[in-house]
Amino acid sequence: MRLLIVEDEPDLLSGLVRALRKAGYAVDPATDGEDGLHKAVNTDYDAIVLDVMLPRLDGWELLARLRQSKSTPVLMLTARGGSADRVRGLDSGADDYLVKPFDLAELFARLRAIIRRGAQQSHPTLNIGEVTIDLAARTVTRTDLPVVLTAREFVLLEYLALHRGEVVTRTALYEHLFDENEATLSNILDVHVFNLRRKLGQDFILTRRGHGYCIE
Ligand code: CA
Repeated sequence: MRLLIVEDEPDLLSGLVRALRKAGYAVDPATDGEDGLHKAVNTDYDAIVLDVMLPRLDGWELLARLRQSKSTPVLMLTARGGSADRVRGLDSGADDYLVKPFDLAELFARLRAIIRRGAQQSHPTLNIGEVTIDLAARTVTRTDLPVVLTAREFVLLEYLALHRGEVVTRTALYEHLFDENEATLSNILDVHVFNLRRKLGQDFILTRRGHGYCIE
């Protein structure tokens, strides 16, 4: 899952980026509205965290322009007490909002929810054969026994499971699992897929030669 965070407060931005990366997300930061809009339009993010008060282009304008071409899920960060802001945000096409200062656990939960809804998956639990994936608790079981995954293995599994039945290309996986600054080794994806198959069953993730991967 790849996220864009548009936030001009350096401490908040770096704290968010660090926490989200630790949870396995690929995260691109932007510190002003113009850079944020440019990235939001040119990359298919799984969700965007968007501050309202931003230099160069504010969050409202960024959202309005983004919605002319893209429906990427957006979580707005609004000022305390600004109920007019929240109404405006939801009316302008934001998927959810959070009032500053917020609890990190709540931000994570709201992000997971808008990512699920973006993939037309309203329920947080996915059952695929003998494997159950809990997208909220970030846990996986196989025949009711817990399976331990790394954060990256989990987001790879999550992405494929939310696109179940579709062939997901390697290019799409690289775009959704790694951020703009990550030096990715060309075989890193194969390593994660190998480990997931070892843990979940060899046939759990199918390879479509020349195309990509698929969970049926
Ligand atoms: Ca701000």
